[in-house]
Amino acid sequence: MTGKPIHKVVSCMGQPVAGNPTEFMFERAFAAAGLDWRYVTFEVPEAGLEAAVAGMRAMGFRGGNFTIPHKVKVIEYLDGLSTAAELMGAVNCVNATNGQLIGENTDGKGFVASLKELVDPQGAHVVILGAGGAARAISVELGLEGVAEIVVVNRTASRGQELVDLISGRVGIPCRLESSAERDYAIDTGTEIVINATSIGLGDAEARVPLDVETLEASMVVADVVFNPPQTRLLRDAAERGCRVLDGLGMLVNQAVIGYRIWTGVDPDANVMREALEEYLGL
Ligand code: NDP
Repeated sequence: MTGKPIHKVVSCMGQPVAGNPTEFMFERAFAAAGLDWRYVTFEVPEAGLEAAVAGMRAMGFRGGNFTIPHKVKVIEYLDGLSTAAELMGAVNCVNATNGQLIGENTDGKGFVASLKELVDPQGAHVVILGAGGAARAISVELGLEGVAEIVVVNRTASRGQELVDLISGRVGIPCRLESSAERDYAIDTGTEIVINATSIGLGDAEARVPLDVETLEASMVVADVVFNPPQTRLLRDAAERGCRVLDGLGMLVNQAVIGYRIWTGVDPDANVMREALEEYLGL
């Protein structure tokens, strides 16, 4: 017992909690820094979300992460939103500050932080596969970084169009929709960044994304949000064609780095987090 207060952050997950890689990363990083902080994870059913947020307030939690299916609904119970979270209409990270719960979204910021290790997105032509939560978060952040254009490639046109309208209408970046429903999408020459933000590849290292990989060029950076397994078929194909590649582990580590900074006000050791994640995933 140190006698000092222990700060707590919480993760509210929608599915049964068998383990949480983010909790593993945080606990390691808190311990490495000698901080009296704890990260705890609970399964919260949809009907229990309002009470869970009230519980965060009552128990003095310093913040929390919210995962599917809570990322949109949780907004109703918060006191305010960051610009990016408001644009995305989704929150994955809550910061308790000055007696208020403020919603943030660190998914897209985590992606951009790892992307910047390879390429500056400003002025880049981007192709993104998918139009779900991850694609939305990444597209908004890339828009805020000043990319030249985003091409959204999605199977379901209505969902893709919603993302295009958000990026071109509210973020103010040229954006158009292409379909992947009938044939593999051929990437235009001049594209600098290609991102798989669909769930294709999750749990299946051989799964194919609907892209004509013959159109990948060595000048392109190819990224995948899928982190388990991290060496997706797309990344292997892209590396074979000479592209620089970025796996989904960097995004997951960086969203945790950003959350840590938001909650504690100091930077964690990102290497400790990355090692913890790799150990958790058995890599
Ligand atoms: P959503 O369910 O919101 O969106 C899934 C997207 O994938 C949709 O665009 C969907 O298209 C598309 N899709 C799924 N299956 C197929 C298929 N067979 N063929 C074509 N398109 C398909 O999921 P999220 O956006 O929340 O998550 C996507 C992935 O991102 C997951 O694997 C998740 O684990 C990962 N992720 C990684 C993070 C990280 O830190 N590395 C952070 C957050 C997410 P349609 O609209 O047509 O259904």
